[in-house]
Amino acid sequence: MIDVIIVGAGPAGLSAAIYVERSGKHAVCFEKLTVGGQIVNTPDIANYPGIKNISGFEFSMGLYEQATELGAEVIYDKVSGIVKSEEDNTFKVTTGSGKEYEAKAVILATGAKNRHLGLDKEEELTGRGVSYCATCDGAFFKGKDVAVNGGGNTALEDALFLTNYCNKVYIIHRRDEFRGEPQNLEAVKNKENIEFVLNSTVTELKGDKALEAVVVKNKETLEEKEIPVSGLFIAIGQEPDNGDFSPVADLDKGGYIVADEKCLTKTLGIFVAGDCRTKDVRQLTTAASDGAVAALAACSYIS
Ligand code: NAP
Repeated sequence: MIDVIIVGAGPAGLSAAIYVERSGKHAVCFEKLTVGGQIVNTPDIANYPGIKNISGFEFSMGLYEQATELGAEVIYDKVSGIVKSEEDNTFKVTTGSGKEYEAKAVILATGAKNRHLGLDKEEELTGRGVSYCATCDGAFFKGKDVAVNGGGNTALEDALFLTNYCNKVYIIHRRDEFRGEPQNLEAVKNKENIEFVLNSTVTELKGDKALEAVVVKNKETLEEKEIPVSGLFIAIGQEPDNGDFSPVADLDKGGYIVADEKCLTKTLGIFVAGDCRTKDVRQLTTAASDGAVAALAACSYIS
């Protein structure tokens, strides 16, 4: 019987694991992909209090080492279901590989996955010009013209990162105002090889074996134009992946898990932390903060 099962080993999950272990309980994180979650792909974190600059990879490895050195375990498997026993209030957790585990409490920290544009050929051209990760794939586009789609911090940081390799970087954004921080926007504006394509959406991907061009439509003039690019980095935000947990937790209309101030879901003993829950601010700091709150609430629940 595990004290606390944590679903996800990103910043929220690993922060929760640290707090569970430091409370004298045992935490086991289940991770379907890689530890660190999406932050692993961020080249430079400059807004985590107390750390001036750090790469997402280094930050994630630090969290992982801190959690595992305290005694937390990470199992690489996808959690596919949670059932609460009516007899003793414990939880049966099933995984994609068909295994079953038992826990006294569960923390859901599943984060979010990259949102797709939903265009024809998007899946087919993924890995052949279409990418959701500039830090992973940017180096393949050395000397080429590429586009980034989106207006948040990810898009701005991706564009800046890509200027290290690419001849020209277009930022295609559906508005003329940006969600990303002013500092990031300023840095982007100062780059000579970045061109803005604003009030525009990508309507078509061209190319058969590899991406050759994107077609963009201006929302105001309704004009369509083709931009020849070898790469399109889609950075239009994330969406949650909580469908498997709807029997034990309420989801809002966007699919995020609803919880109270203590990160408690509708099921006593199941808590939620990080980007997968309903909240206004999705940042590294708020993920870590949720992890601490959920872990302490879970430990108090089982003791
Ligand atoms: P985001 O802030 O949600 O921005 C998504 C962008 O994509 C928005 O500009 C949005 O446009 C656009 N968009 C959404 N759906 C679209 C669609 N279907 N078609 C075209 N455009 C679409 O996402 P993010 O940039 O990935 O950032 C997620 C969170 O992580 C944010 O809180 C961000 O601050 C944080 N983050 C922080 C750092 C850092 O601090 N270093 C780095 C990366 C991310 P609208 O603006 O018109 O809605």
